[in-house]
Amino acid sequence: MIEITKTNIEKAINKARQTKPFVKVIEFRLYSVTNKTTGANYTVKFTKINNTKYAECNCKATVICYHIGASIGAHIVLAEQMQTATA
Ligand SMILES: [Zn+2]
Repeated sequence: MIEITKTNIEKAINKARQTKPFVKVIEFRLYSVTNKTTGANYTVKFTKINNTKYAECNCKATVICYHIGASIGAHIVLAEQMQTATA
């Protein structure tokens, strides 16, 4: 599990913009990310503990990778929808 910071997530989002992987929602906080070129598929999971956000990906990267960068867009939209729904 890696802590998400403004710096590392920005980097990951920029890389995701270049790579443009396909993101599928498995469930809230759980996303499937596929590289359209290689077909490689990874699972990204988001966790929130005491207002600190963490993410993990099952690829070999040990940093906030672009799979996480690609899924966070979908995650933010879903999180906002859920907040609106419970408000
Ligand atoms: Zn990854």
